Amino acid sequence: MRRVTLIGAALDLMLGVLKVLVGWLASSQSLIADGVHSFSDLATDFIVLFAAKHGSMEPDEDHPYGHGRFETIATVILGVSLMFVGIGIAWDSINRLFHPEMLFSPGPWALAIALLSVVSKEWIYHYTMRVAKRLRSHMLEANAWHSRTDAISSVIVVVGVGGTMLGLDYLDAIAAIGVSWMVGTIGWKMAWSSLGELSDKGLGEEQLQIIREAIMQQEGAEHVHMLRSRRMGHNALVDVHVEVDSMLTVSEGHMIATAVENAIKESDQGVTDVTVHIDPENDERAPSCDGLPGRKKVLEILSRAWKDAGVDLHWYDVRLHYLGGRIVIDIYLPDAFVGRMEDIERLEEQLKKSLSDLPDFGDVHLYAALGSRRSERD
Ligand SMILES: [Zn+2]
Ligand SMILES: [Zn+2]
Repeated sequence: MRRVTLIGAALDLMLGVLKVLVGWLASSQSLIADGVHSFSDLATDFIVLFAAKHGSMEPDEDHPYGHGRFETIATVILGVSLMFVGIGIAWDSINRLFHPEMLFSPGPWALAIALLSVVSKEWIYHYTMRVAKRLRSHMLEANAWHSRTDAISSVIVVVGVGGTMLGLDYLDAIAAIGVSWMVGTIGWKMAWSSLGELSDKGLGEEQLQIIREAIMQQEGAEHVHMLRSRRMGHNALVDVHVEVDSMLTVSEGHMIATAVENAIKESDQGVTDVTVHIDPENDERAPSCDGLPGRKKVLEILSRAWKDAGVDLHWYDVRLHYLGGRIVIDIYLPDAFVGRMEDIERLEEQLKKSLSDLPDFGDVHLYAALGSRRSERD
């Protein structure tokens, strides 16, 4: 991939120098415009190579998300400069069309260089396409198509220069306008998409749909919401809320989060950074659990409320579920607990009743190990 890009860059450099030089010496405005086009392609290749070499996502302390945005900023600057260059050349050509005495009369060398450009660009189109197919790289495929538009750009120059040599002396200037229109359009597209990226524009709906489907295929992922994305260079960052069964353990929830993360990265949408937020319920609809007491406070409240029942929470495994704006409590009785089923049920009733006037609390469930239950049969 590096090799193809390097060959393309070398070709753009050679063609750019030749076109501007010969365009100037053999006085062809359209060839000069085409030369500027080649230099703009060279600059793009350079940005791509630079980004590839410095690993656009390599993070450090100052830039924890990597340096992809440097590429973006460089692309905005390049895009805006291309727009100005395109407008400049077009303006100059229009001016000459209105003052025919200022029109250039290009010589045969200009034609030769334009033809050389058409042939070499068409060659690199086929070469890049072959490599793109082999590596299944969409980026290289796009590069290949770009080479073909470069060839078309040079075809316009051939027509312009050839026509002028045959006596249609305004054709070179018209070709120059055509080529600078292409240069300006390339610049506009670059600047516009990179500005979108800088303003944290998200991925397209089609891409988001693919990501959503990849998430929902993961076992345990019940709903998806707050799927947000940002682009950075050639990569994208995603954060998402995934709803799971409300009673899962932390480790199972984490396992699902990791599976979702991998599925998003493997969905082929260029996502390299994923943050998954696990929801035990739909936090957009369910009452908020904000402001409910934390574990330490809860244990204090429970110890006080259950003092009469003779429950010493130190001995019990207490699990708190913050759901629907209330705290649901699971209590696992210690293995050493010896009691009959009725005792456990009675205790559970008692605990429920003593919490009934505390608005923060929901249901209470007691669980006993099989060993202690077996004791009732003894
Ligand atoms: Zn180009
Ligand atoms: Zn949520």
